[in-house]
Amino acid sequence: MNARRFCRAVLLTLTLNVVGLLVLSAAQEAHPPHWAYEGKEGPKEWGNLDSSYAVCSVGKTQSPIDIKGAKKTDLPALNFSYHTIPLDIIDNGHTIQVNYAPGSMLTVGGKLYTLQQFHFHNPSEEHVNGKDFPLVAHLVHADAEGHLAVIAVLFELGNANPLIDTLWKNIPAVKEKPHDIPSISIQAQDLLPNERSYFTYAGSLTTPPCSEGVSWYVLSSHSTISPQQLAAFAKIYPMNARPIQPTNGREILLSKRGFDIPAKASRQ
Ligand SMILES: [Zn+2]
Repeated sequence: MNARRFCRAVLLTLTLNVVGLLVLSAAQEAHPPHWAYEGKEGPKEWGNLDSSYAVCSVGKTQSPIDIKGAKKTDLPALNFSYHTIPLDIIDNGHTIQVNYAPGSMLTVGGKLYTLQQFHFHNPSEEHVNGKDFPLVAHLVHADAEGHLAVIAVLFELGNANPLIDTLWKNIPAVKEKPHDIPSISIQAQDLLPNERSYFTYAGSLTTPPCSEGVSWYVLSSHSTISPQQLAAFAKIYPMNARPIQPTNGREILLSKRGFDIPAKASRQ
C-alpha cells in the first residue's frame, strides 16, 4: 500500500467509526421511554411520559373503543393471502409477538397491505356492546406508504387453538430477544375464524406512541382458546390491555354480507 492509499484507508476507517458512533448514539437517543399497563407509567400517564407520546392524551381517534351502534354497510371482503413461514417469536416486554416474514398480503377494497407481525392482549382491548373477551390477536399490516391496517381476532373460551399451542411452547425465556426457530412453520390464518364479517372504524395504535390513522377491522365472528391456553398467557401477562377510549362520534361500520370461508379453502 502506498502512502496515499494508506491515508485514504485511514480516513475511510475513521469516517466509518464516526458514522458508526453517530448511528449508535442516535439509536440510544431514539430508544423510546418505558411505559406500562399499571402504576406511574400506566395508560393515564402515557401522554405525559414523552413528547412523542402526546397523542395518547390529546388524540381524538384513539383505540381501543367499545364497538356499538355499528351501521350495516355493503363493504368489501377481507382477502387474506398469508404464507406459511418459519417461526420468529419475541416476548417484547408488553406482549408475545410473532414477526412475519415479508410477502403475506391482506387486500381490502383494492388496498394492499403486508402482514408485519401479530401479538396478543389479555383481556381483549376492544369491547363489543360493552363486553370484553378473554384474549384478542392483533394482526398488524402496512401498505407501501406505511398506512397501518389491523385485523383484530377476538377469542372466546372453548377448544384449544393449535397455532397458539405452538406459539406458547416456544415463548423465549428471555424478554426482548427475538427467537428464530426455522424448524417450526406457522400460518397466521390459523388464528382466524372461518367467517370473516367485520366491524371497521378509524383508530390508533393501542400502545405508545398511540399514532392515529390506523384502519381497524374487528372480526365479528370469534375464534376459541382453551382455559389452559389463556392461563398460560396470563401467567406472563395478567393484564396487557389499554382501557376503552372515547369514540368521539366516530362512525363504526359492520359489513352487511357474510364472508363464509370453508376451512382451509383459502390457504396457500
Ligand atoms: Zn395490539
